[in-house]
Amino acid sequence: MALTEYAHDLDTPVHPVSAPDYMPAEQLRALQLHRLQGLVRRVYDHVPLTRRRMEERGVRPEHIKTLKDISLLPFMLKTDLRDEYPFGLFASPMNDIVRFHCSSGTTGKPIVIGNTQNDILVWQNGCMRALAMCGVRSSDVMQVAYGYGLFTGGLGLHYGGEGLGCAVLPISGGNTDRQLMLMKDMGVTVIACTPSYFLHLIDEGMKKGIDFKRDMRLKHGVFGAEPWTEEMRAKIESLTGIAAHDIYGLTEICGPGVANDCAHRHGLHVFEDHFYPEIVDPETLEPLPDGEPGELVFTTLTRTGTPMLRYRTRDISRISAEPCPCGRTIRAIERISARTDDMLIIRGVNVFPSQIEAGLLSVEAVLPHYVIIVDKVGGLDTLEIKVEVTRETLSDDIKSLEALRARVAHAVQRIINISAKITLVEPHTLPRSEGKLRRVTDLRQKS
Ligand SMILES: [Zn+2]
Repeated sequence: MALTEYAHDLDTPVHPVSAPDYMPAEQLRALQLHRLQGLVRRVYDHVPLTRRRMEERGVRPEHIKTLKDISLLPFMLKTDLRDEYPFGLFASPMNDIVRFHCSSGTTGKPIVIGNTQNDILVWQNGCMRALAMCGVRSSDVMQVAYGYGLFTGGLGLHYGGEGLGCAVLPISGGNTDRQLMLMKDMGVTVIACTPSYFLHLIDEGMKKGIDFKRDMRLKHGVFGAEPWTEEMRAKIESLTGIAAHDIYGLTEICGPGVANDCAHRHGLHVFEDHFYPEIVDPETLEPLPDGEPGELVFTTLTRTGTPMLRYRTRDISRISAEPCPCGRTIRAIERISARTDDMLIIRGVNVFPSQIEAGLLSVEAVLPHYVIIVDKVGGLDTLEIKVEVTRETLSDDIKSLEALRARVAHAVQRIINISAKITLVEPHTLPRSEGKLRRVTDLRQKS
């Protein structure tokens, strides 16, 4: 069947690189099984840790006869990457490794990922397909403001953009004035960075009198590397008039370009001919059917440097059980707005920062800049949220300001089921970030 017959994206013609996105499901499953069998054999032969775990379970590579048999295999965790630092999980000789990446570890040793030439090509393919899904084309000028270096964001999107034939501006993170100047002067049409850095760019631009809708040629934002919400997307789009796309990935699997949302925003399509997704119950670790929420697990079907077998991401999501109207056969995962690692337990209640963000941004006058402070006073957990609101609102009289504060408090409490102290502050007073932003301060850990 001709590629165009699969094309249902809103007004975006299908890019040739997207062909595997539309592979007939039966053919896709057969390809996945074939690749899984090859991967299991490779890991069994070359990674002692996995081999030992498989032997403990009495599982051998030839036991993998269907895709369902993946549940026989052991999981991999971030701690395995730390414990086997630096090369214990490598499945290829150093002669075949062409590039390392490391996680931005805050404590102790980082995790080290080795890429073979083939791994780099597969990763580039994922980023190209992600950008094509966003509607990015060879005529676009793309500013990559993700960090370059050991972090995967910069180089991932860079090779993706070049692969599509875009004119790529590899500016990396930071130096906001120069970012804004070049974005304007060079007629940049695509920006790739963290959503929090883009907010910072908008903010600094506004201070200089730059109106993104009027002064920039920007059409697309490719945002990832931190959890963000639909409410944040709506704020960004209304402030700038661009389409804000969600790209997903993680260093352990390759980097960005594992999944991306299409024009229908039905979730993020996983490039599952390379990255096989599962959802498991985080407690029992039993696989869950499509549609059920749980922890996202990935197997890198084609990676050879540091392949991951059933890697537990700690991200909470679900695989969509419904086909997407865009016609892609690769399945979609629900956008990640919660990471198990980010969960706060406040007065015995589980709270995700993304829930607080959703509540805050549902109120009109609220700006997308906030911090969350958790503390313990007299044995009781306290939650304070400081949030910026528009200058016009702050000049309103005390009574209407108090009404706004109450409205924000109610919007948050409705979602998280506990009360919070809300402090409304002036624009540009809370911290900004040139990379990943930490909005949560938990003072209880220090006591
Ligand atoms: Zn779709």
